[in-house]
Amino acid sequence: MAALEWLIIGGGIHGTHLSLVLMQRGGVAAHRLRVLDPYPAPLARWHECTRNCGMAYLRSGGVHHIGLEPEALGRFAARQPNSPTPHFIPPYRRPALTLFQQHCDHVIATNQLDQVRLIGRATALRRHGDGWQVETEHGCVTAHKVALAMGSMEHPAIPAWASPLIAQGAAIDHIFTPGMRREQCRAWQRCVVVGGGISAVQLALTLAAQQPGTVTLLLRHPLREHQLDSDPGWLGPKYQDGFRALHDYAERRTQITRARHRGSVPPDLAVQLRQAIQHGQLALRHAAVVATHHTPATGITLSLAAGAPLTADWVVLATGFAPERPGGAWLTETIPAADLPLAPCGFPLAAPDLHWGQGLYVLGALAELELGPIARNIAGARQAAERIVRSRDAGVPPRTYRAMRGRG
Ligand SMILES: Cc1cc2nc3c(=O)[nH]c(=O)nc-3n(C[C@H](O)[C@H](O)[C@H](O)COP(=O)(O)OP(=O)(O)OC[C@H]3O[C@@H](n4cnc5c(N)ncnc54)[C@H](O)[C@@H]3O)c2cc1C
Repeated sequence: MAALEWLIIGGGIHGTHLSLVLMQRGGVAAHRLRVLDPYPAPLARWHECTRNCGMAYLRSGGVHHIGLEPEALGRFAARQPNSPTPHFIPPYRRPALTLFQQHCDHVIATNQLDQVRLIGRATALRRHGDGWQVETEHGCVTAHKVALAMGSMEHPAIPAWASPLIAQGAAIDHIFTPGMRREQCRAWQRCVVVGGGISAVQLALTLAAQQPGTVTLLLRHPLREHQLDSDPGWLGPKYQDGFRALHDYAERRTQITRARHRGSVPPDLAVQLRQAIQHGQLALRHAAVVATHHTPATGITLSLAAGAPLTADWVVLATGFAPERPGGAWLTETIPAADLPLAPCGFPLAAPDLHWGQGLYVLGALAELELGPIARNIAGARQAAERIVRSRDAGVPPRTYRAMRGRG
């Protein structure tokens, strides 16, 4: 294959949206661009994770989607037949997951985004002339520009107490394990869902609706209610201006950590949870697991820091993802070899246009120190693509990099 103009590594929401923006707004020809991803279809991880947790409506508003114009999802919804449930719910016109997925399919089909995919996994990245060479299990690909959009959903977070039980073969699953299909999972009589965020609550409600009275949701902390996973001021200049003015990247990291409402649920879901508890469909416990016991005959026993132990024949973890830098070992090798600057927290020191190095761009968690707490979300995908398409021909002013390295 001749050298590409663009190779995007990762074909989730971020990589797929960037491919659309580069082709439709940046004038990049389809044959000069590829999206490298291990899954044959776009957005595979997104579909898998959202389906498995039983989500009915997105947390984010209707202007956040993979299409070009913010109103595109609203216009698409107006052309759909009436559905028994609303296409959008307040606040922020949160779209129904089914509508959102149909719109994704529509955008992908209309723009033939599935035609620019390259199935495979990046295993190495190195400079090659004035571009980059990416190694995959099927061979090498060279491109003038590479965008890193690997997402943060590769490695589900497993609590320390659960790992030995999983190794013993206990009936414990993480809802976000790649390849997991909840509908094909185990039959249960007593199920414990572990986790305190939106996915855990959605999952517990879904399983309780299936088998009322058999599900306990186990949280380490009281329910935290927040409409969004960070204040909407982070979507625009209200907080972004002050964030960008910070030259101390350790302080930027502190602000991101403080701003992200991790393990929180929107109020409508908290109401549904309380109703399900009141109606005896679901039980709720707040306590940390302090000890465990497992035998094939008795199932899994979780001893808790407070109250009676819980027993279960199925434990489902909805404990999110490991907080590691996307890319893992291969990117770790590239960083010193390509002299890519890092902040004290180990994440990229990218320029405001999301250049990390000559012809190398970042999105998602890797762009967090530029975009702030929204970087991983759909809004972050849209803002990242906007910055990249505007800058793509500008090249990297080396002075900017030298200045930034000094600030790291
Ligand atoms: C259940 C759930 C609900 C959510 N709801 C919302 C919401 O309502 N609103 C919102 O804004 N955000 C939401 N999010 C956050 C959401 O993760 C992001 O918005 C979005 O899905 C992230 O997209 P991504 O492209 O960064 O990652 P992913 O969808 O994970 O895509 C990354 C892709 O890169 C691939 N990849 C990884 N490594 C390599 C490699 N070495 N080579 C090639 N490919 C690689 C992966 O296999 C994957 O296909 C939700 C997340 C979850 C889990």
